[in-house]
Amino acid sequence: MGGMKRIAVLLVVAAGVAAVGVAGWAESQEPEISLEGVVDLHFHTGPDSRPRSVDDIEASRLAAAAGMRAILLKNHFTMTADRAAIAMGQVDGLEIFGGLVLNRAVGGINPEAVRQMATFSGGRGKVVWLPTFDSEYAATSSGSDGPYVSILEDGEPLPAVLEVFELLAEHDLTLAMGHSAPGEVLRLIPEAKRLGVQRILVTHVFSQGATLEQMREMAEGDAIMEIDWLAVYGGGRSIDDYVSAIRALGAEAFFMSSDLGQAGNPVHADGLRAYVRAMLDAGITEAEIDIMARRNPARLLGLDPW
Ligand SMILES: [Zn+2]
Repeated sequence: MGGMKRIAVLLVVAAGVAAVGVAGWAESQEPEISLEGVVDLHFHTGPDSRPRSVDDIEASRLAAAAGMRAILLKNHFTMTADRAAIAMGQVDGLEIFGGLVLNRAVGGINPEAVRQMATFSGGRGKVVWLPTFDSEYAATSSGSDGPYVSILEDGEPLPAVLEVFELLAEHDLTLAMGHSAPGEVLRLIPEAKRLGVQRILVTHVFSQGATLEQMREMAEGDAIMEIDWLAVYGGGRSIDDYVSAIRALGAEAFFMSSDLGQAGNPVHADGLRAYVRAMLDAGITEAEIDIMARRNPARLLGLDPW
């Protein structure tokens, strides 16, 4: 990268930090929230077929400048293990991971796509998501009559799903539940564990419509449930929904993520600062934030405890 470009990036970062500092001071009269050690497992970036505000490298630089520990690049339609490996070579002081979402763009539940990702150079592929936008649950609950990707048939996991679970176990990858129905998640957790999957995350559990009782069962199955800032920022959820679930099940059952990167929304680090502030204002303790924003997401990537 040329010297001029590097200076431009640094100026943008400095301007961003200054703007946040001023706004934070005006609103709260309190010091800025530290993202030191924070891990964001829901990190959208460009290039994408949906509009994104920052690309892999820009977003990684902003996360590193904010002191974050690790990010997981997420794209609904293409693998990010390769992009994470390239970003790792361009950005210091940040662990950058990628994965694969099993939507129709990669052939749906396609074990061969998982097998290839797991052996890509750089070794940054860490998470495989079950279908998101193309999930049967997403399609049928939105009333769409478009094609979708099933994971169960007559209540039983499809053979390709079990093959994917075996690959996750073999390569020590993390299973993410995508936009599956809560009932599907509960059906698949014991299957994944039986086949040796070590780490399971439940994608934005509130947006998937899980009840508190279903969340309790997921937690009892050792899955860690995502609570994302986008749902609150976008108005779909209130922070109090999250707080009451944390009070009922314990912070150990959850991890916080941004789910940001969309054009027009705040960048990840700014969203995460607002999220931590909102949690603290709602009575969540610093120790609970540590569990949900640092320890649990690090565990889900197989990183050492923070
Ligand atoms: Zn997302």
